[in-house]
Amino acid sequence: MIKQVPATHPRLKSLIIREKLVNGFTRGLVAREGLIAHGRGEAFDYLLGEKTSAFALDATQAAAATLLLAKQPIISVNGNVAAVSATDIIELSKYANAPLEVNLFYRDKKREQAIERELLKYGATKVFGVGPNASARLPDLDSERRKVDPRGILVADVVVVPLEDGDRAEALVKMGKKIIAIDLNPLSRTASIADITIVDNITRAIPSLVYAIKRINNLTNKEKQKIVNKFDNKRALAKSLEIIRGAMT
Ligand code: ATP
Repeated sequence: MIKQVPATHPRLKSLIIREKLVNGFTRGLVAREGLIAHGRGEAFDYLLGEKTSAFALDATQAAAATLLLAKQPIISVNGNVAAVSATDIIELSKYANAPLEVNLFYRDKKREQAIERELLKYGATKVFGVGPNASARLPDLDSERRKVDPRGILVADVVVVPLEDGDRAEALVKMGKKIIAIDLNPLSRTASIADITIVDNITRAIPSLVYAIKRINNLTNKEKQKIVNKFDNKRALAKSLEIIRGAMT
């Protein structure tokens, strides 16, 4: 379908992402509801000018430093993430030394296996949280998202949660974990509860996070900690809202 769209189309990138999601839906990776969640993200991206802000870059730096300082980091993957960012998230997993774990709000056997297959196809070496491996339960959470891998999210100190729902983010924070969210909506519960929120499209955020990790990898732990300490999530969220307000007036 995308072949029918001229290369000069101003919304080409956005249309490519939509097509990836629809393909992901057809192949059983994405839930119907995931298509709607993407729509919410797209609306915010439109208001943010479909580009990465300086504040998103600050959050990305802080996220890179946090991942490099983590003892047991992990990256949570849902259907939308696998459909639009499979290769990027695998690259992040490699450079952040953080395994990938499937975690779904609409969990079913077929979908979790389809996501696992997709990640393995693009080069992941192992995928946590599939089938009987999601045998642990997060306290204070009723949704299917409570099912986690005892080797992964359950014991992680830092959890990357792209395109997350607020309930699980809250449950993870209550457990004392550090949360790095990637969410285009600076008003979401996830965005406000996370330690670091990258308000950017996942398709731009993950490659720039990988770049940041490579760039600061050789700093000392003290220098990395300084980057983390300097970052103020509330301020960065407020700045993203300012951009949106500016776009509206
Ligand atoms: P919360 O419970 O945190 O308030 P929510 O109920 O809106 O959030 P979901 O419906 O699960 O949560 O939606 C997932 C989030 O992912 C939304 O906030 C949406 O803006 C965001 N999102 C969707 N697509 C993208 C994308 N491509 N890049 C970054 N964020 C996205």
